[in-house]
Amino acid sequence: MKSFDIIVIGGGRASAFAQEATKAGKSVALIERDRLGGTCPNNGCVPSKLLIGYADVAKRIKEASRHHISASIDHIDLEQIFKNVNHWVDRVDPRYESRLPENLCLYRGEAKFIENKIIQVNGEKLSAEQIIIGTGARPRPADFSHLPTWTSNDLFPFKHEIPKSIAIVGGGFISCELANFFQAVGINVTLLVRGNTLLSNEDKTISAIFKEQFSEFVTAKFDTTITDAKHDGKKFHLSLDEDSKQTEITVDALLYATGRIPNTDNLDIENTDIILNKRGFIERDAKLETAVKGVYAIGDVAGTYQLQHAARFETNHLVESLIKAPNETKPEITFPMMPHAVFTDPEIAAVGITEQDLDRNDISRDDVVIVETNWKSSARLLSWRLEYPITKLIVKKSDYSIIGCHMIGPESSTMIHQILMLIHLDNDIRKLPNMIHIHPSLSESLLESAMNAISEIDG
Ligand SMILES: Cc1cc2nc3c(=O)[nH]c(=O)nc-3n(C[C@H](O)[C@H](O)[C@H](O)COP(=O)(O)OP(=O)(O)OC[C@H]3O[C@@H](n4cnc5c(N)ncnc54)[C@H](O)[C@@H]3O)c2cc1C
Repeated sequence: MKSFDIIVIGGGRASAFAQEATKAGKSVALIERDRLGGTCPNNGCVPSKLLIGYADVAKRIKEASRHHISASIDHIDLEQIFKNVNHWVDRVDPRYESRLPENLCLYRGEAKFIENKIIQVNGEKLSAEQIIIGTGARPRPADFSHLPTWTSNDLFPFKHEIPKSIAIVGGGFISCELANFFQAVGINVTLLVRGNTLLSNEDKTISAIFKEQFSEFVTAKFDTTITDAKHDGKKFHLSLDEDSKQTEITVDALLYATGRIPNTDNLDIENTDIILNKRGFIERDAKLETAVKGVYAIGDVAGTYQLQHAARFETNHLVESLIKAPNETKPEITFPMMPHAVFTDPEIAAVGITEQDLDRNDISRDDVVIVETNWKSSARLLSWRLEYPITKLIVKKSDYSIIGCHMIGPESSTMIHQILMLIHLDNDIRKLPNMIHIHPSLSESLLESAMNAISEIDG
């Protein structure tokens, strides 16, 4: 049996830990069963955002008439679009491999636990005192899995015939981002949503605006489930229960984006004392340590956030506590409020608590102000000729700290960094109006949001 200081399972975000540990002189085994880099660059954040770039251009042309400009799209070279994205994805694994330190031992295969500190890969047994599990998550399998249905994994790299129409099941961010792309480039989308909201994790004001705006562009069927699906070799014939009415649609492709499940069922975790929660994610403490001392879990496999920047934050924490200051008492991780964005049109960005979650978190409405401000004070927004963009701020009366910020409008994912910086440095909304804002930028609209919140508190 080969013995290492550290074994890292999963070549996604955890590969950064493996690199740092090797550079610090540890003997490290990194085990990856698929493509190095993991979900984000191979079939997640990056390729999905590369698609959004094409969608943005197509949508601007389609909406030109709003600006009294008549324009039309002659042709969208979808083959070339997918070729470009595939080309980018194809280079990820070799790029990641080339960055690995020479003395890091890379195993390409599926890791399985034999016992707490012994792993088997490709028939070989490896042991280490410290093991990092960063095996991520994967799309929840599609219903009707005997049919050639897709999940997001089937899009990157894309190796199928390009459909003319697609039904997408799910109302979360992956579903909406992909629907946004397909519809914008001329592939007819029908979104099938079990409930009656889109992006139900967002603040209720934001998801309501989103639903209204997005439904104008993408056909969305709410309170809808697929009761039967058939495939005739070319097309899907779907029977739907649409708000208790039985209907049928025919589409070229059927994509499921109904959530992600942890990659814990492939690890033979039952051979260890590691504990999983009810949803199959790994339980860990505030030091990111599992029920087995010396075995840690980071990223999607622990299910805390399922965001790339959260996985990076956890990886960095572990680098600090296990590699850079290993002899000191290991610090507990303190998560800041975790921001996120939805790269659709309309674009959304948010951080902190939603209005509907105040009660669940025992925060009294008397202790906060909730202020919704549209962006019309920004002349730049006027040039976009949009009515809906707003920022919703939830601010604590006692110390003027922002506990929630929710935006919907162009460039929200960039705009919110102004708020993130404020929260990070000295969370006091009164500091924002002291900063000079460029006139008439989109960001200037936040000035008015802040002043509205402050005057509401000051009365
Ligand atoms: C379509 C899509 C869009 C997304 N967009 C965003 C976004 O805009 N912003 C954002 O923050 N997040 C986004 N995410 C989520 C983000 O990609 C993940 O949160 C992030 O990649 C998680 O990193 P990880 O290292 O925990 O897991 P992963 O990157 O999934 O890495 C886990 C690795 O472990 C390997 N593995 C699994 N089991 C084993 C085993 N037994 N042995 C060996 N190797 C194993 C896997 O092959 C994989 O390479 C998106 C996800 C998807 C699917």
